[in-house]
Amino acid sequence: MQITWSEHQRAIRARYQTVGHELVRPTAGQRDSSLSFDRELWRNLARSGLFGVHMPTAYGGQGLGIWEFAAALDGFAEGCQDMGILVSFVAQVALVQAGLLSYGSEAQCQRWLPDLISGEKIGCFAITEATCGSDVRALKLSASYAATGYVLQGQKWNITNAPVADLCMTFARLEGAGAQAITCFMTETDKPGITQSAAFELLGNRGTPIGSIDFEHAALDLDSVIGGEGQGLRVLYFGFLVERVLTGLIVTGCVQPLIDECIAYSSKRLAFGKPISDNQYVQGHIVQIYTQLELLRSVLLRGLSALERGEDCSKLASIIKILASEALHDACLTAMKIHGNYGYRRDHYFERLLRDSIGLFFAGGTIEIHKHVIWTNLLAEAQDRSKEKTDLRLDAYQARTTEGAAA
Ligand SMILES: Cc1cc2nc3c(=O)[nH]c(=O)nc-3n(C[C@H](O)[C@H](O)[C@H](O)COP(=O)(O)OP(=O)(O)OC[C@H]3O[C@@H](n4cnc5c(N)ncnc54)[C@H](O)[C@@H]3O)c2cc1C
Repeated sequence: MQITWSEHQRAIRARYQTVGHELVRPTAGQRDSSLSFDRELWRNLARSGLFGVHMPTAYGGQGLGIWEFAAALDGFAEGCQDMGILVSFVAQVALVQAGLLSYGSEAQCQRWLPDLISGEKIGCFAITEATCGSDVRALKLSASYAATGYVLQGQKWNITNAPVADLCMTFARLEGAGAQAITCFMTETDKPGITQSAAFELLGNRGTPIGSIDFEHAALDLDSVIGGEGQGLRVLYFGFLVERVLTGLIVTGCVQPLIDECIAYSSKRLAFGKPISDNQYVQGHIVQIYTQLELLRSVLLRGLSALERGEDCSKLASIIKILASEALHDACLTAMKIHGNYGYRRDHYFERLLRDSIGLFFAGGTIEIHKHVIWTNLLAEAQDRSKEKTDLRLDAYQARTTEGAAA
């Protein structure tokens, strides 16, 4: 991302770019084709401090600010070019860790954050069920009271990291709680009654283990509720906000090298006796994806600033997610087209990234749901503005009638 990084931030960015390039990139294709997850790689990433850049030192993090975190993630994404690891990373750091930090008690943070940050444990964030994805309020996983805590019954489905997760932050409908039923629970996955599936065979994101978690009368202790009973939607929407902004960051990191490769390849590939980059049609393709990238960067800067100020930026976060999904997809397709047959080969990473980019159209909410979020915000803003206008007219009326009365 081309913001004016400080010297310290540039060093962080360069460091994590190297980490991504050396640790992750060489084996990304292999993980994709074998549908596998490398726990040792995950631990090595944790040892580099990546999972704790923006986490308090009290829990083993580096205690750095949001811009240092942005620099690290932007550099890491650029270096690794692996949406498999990146989606797993965002699920754990943006959804589980940030959710715990913001809504968990001190005891809960002490209990779970250090192991997540150190890479000893892997986290997943489970909302989706086989019968409901977009309509999160319709979720069916049930929670009932038991003598020692709660009992969960049901299934979560299509969850990032689920097949390998040691910790699961999930959302269930608490018995007898009516409209305020949805509650966030955090649990270890090695408890009796909890079963994890193998990784699903998906078109893309195959380096991200995605699967289901079954809760069969699974007993959770009293201290497993995050953010209070009935407060689940708050935890969930907060997680979505951070996840959507961070997705923008990983996409900017992935798209810039695609543009660089398009420029380099099209400048040396000859057709009709001249470099293909001499053709305005070819230049236009590259300029188009660069324009999308710049647009994403500007909105992303506003999103990061809003997060830094602690503002609700749900409308902006949905805009970021739409722009990011489209930018990555279009950039992969363009890179493939410009590289001709070379780009279409299975041994080239464009096709892997292209398949992965499709997952972004669903993960963390579909494009249609983001449009719905933006529309709902627009409507509320329009109503506020019209209320302001009405209030102004009332003020003027009151002022005039008072003048009249005084006269
Ligand atoms: C790579 C990847 C990772 C994922 N990771 C996780 C995870 O970690 N945790 C988790 O809980 N889930 C995860 N998911 C699941 C994801 O959140 C859901 O797939 C997504 O929310 C859509 O739900 P659905 O598939 O049930 O589609 P549905 O909700 O059934 O929607 C089907 C179609 O109908 C459209 N639609 C539905 N309602 C409306 C509406 N009101 N207005 C307009 N259109 C509408 C949708 O946009 C979509 O096109 C992941 C998915 C992917 C692909």
